[in-house]
Amino acid sequence: MSVLTARRGDMCYCPGCSHGMVLEQLGAAIDGLGLPPERVCIVSDIGCIGTADRYFSCHTFHGLHGRSITYAEGIKRARPEMLVVVLIGDGGCGIGTAHLIHAARRCADIKVIVCNNFNFGMTGGQHSATTPITALTTTTPNGAPDHPFDLCTTVGVNGAAYAARHSVFDDAMVENFHRALTCPGFVLVDVWELCTAYFVPANKLSRGSLEEYSTKLGLPFGVLRQGSPGDGAAEPVDAPRAAPKRERGAEWSAAPTLAWPGRREICVAGSAGQRIRSAVGVIGEIAVGCGLYAAQQDDFPITVRRGFSLSNLIVACTPIRYTSLDDADLVVVLSPDGLERLGSLAGLLPTSLVVAAEGIAVGDTPARVRVLPLKTVEKRVGKESAALAALTCALPAAGLADAGELRAAADALVGGSYRQTNLAAIAAGLELAAEAAPAAATGQ
Ligand code: SF4
Ligand SMILES: [Mg+2]
Repeated sequence: MSVLTARRGDMCYCPGCSHGMVLEQLGAAIDGLGLPPERVCIVSDIGCIGTADRYFSCHTFHGLHGRSITYAEGIKRARPEMLVVVLIGDGGCGIGTAHLIHAARRCADIKVIVCNNFNFGMTGGQHSATTPITALTTTTPNGAPDHPFDLCTTVGVNGAAYAARHSVFDDAMVENFHRALTCPGFVLVDVWELCTAYFVPANKLSRGSLEEYSTKLGLPFGVLRQGSPGDGAAEPVDAPRAAPKRERGAEWSAAPTLAWPGRREICVAGSAGQRIRSAVGVIGEIAVGCGLYAAQQDDFPITVRRGFSLSNLIVACTPIRYTSLDDADLVVVLSPDGLERLGSLAGLLPTSLVVAAEGIAVGDTPARVRVLPLKTVEKRVGKESAALAALTCALPAAGLADAGELRAAADALVGGSYRQTNLAAIAAGLELAAEAAPAAATGQ
């Protein structure tokens, strides 16, 4: 069965539009690779060509204006075994130029197919970044004043492994796509097409005049860039990460777990220099590594090394659609700056827990309040790790995480150059939680 599920005539495009041709050619080229559908992902962008994902029986992802390139790179990084193909128009390429260039620079192993019909078709024929100079569009009624964006040269000089420009009427388009799809690294194919609704009637464009445009504009057809090993272009950035060492099933069964009671909201309020955001980030990453969902939002002034630093963390067992805090379940207050920014805690729920550094008067609150011996924590792990230790100490106290599970998950998941420091802080926080529940206090 073909990866393409519709024939040209059954697709949603205007009569004579080239998009259907491209999809048939691309579908045939993908079929020729013999990949199972679950090994292929089509990432679509905006515009008429953005509707194309519905016609493929493989993984598809519909993206936004010019951002399809970024989604595709993310998908490829997460699933390096997949063939990831971007279907984007000239409009999307103009909007997402920065993404295009930087994906090429990283030689991200994605294949970008540009359906280039020189205008924004879906929105009424406005000029785009690739509109040829003097061409007529609804927004350039006197002729486009600028030279068109040379997609192939741009990605080529920025590190693409492969760049080619073809007319959609090239008899060898299936072979052209096959060559492009099998080239490792960043690939771009600029396919020149006809938009029969707008660009064709305004410019009396035809199959033959695509060739004339190519000559007149100095933008030749053919393979214009093909990297070779060692020139810095042909090696995809993801190459060292290629095949995962373990089967996916084994990988998941070995993943640490963290029993979590559902959506829970945490706020840590302190000052610049206390590494508040890093502490929250470490716990958030542990949660994600355990298969939970996490969202972090930070708040700090534009000044550095002074003022408040707040970090909110939501951890949930299901996707987080709303990423702001409604009713914090746990508030950790580590400095007067942080408390001032946080404001009154009177709106907290009686079920909430406030863990406040000793000496900080949290004011009236219906929440339970506990005092944290922050100075002792700082002595034990150092000032820069105290926030992580304090947060780790508070999690079991708030009934959010089991200390043993948290320790095991941290051991398995915390990485980076601060691994040892962070593990020491987490261990200290859990020891503190185990030693004694922090002295009870009341809101003041
Ligand atoms: S508006 Fe242009 S690009 Fe869109 S479907 Fe019609 S002919 Fe094709
Ligand atoms: Mg277009």
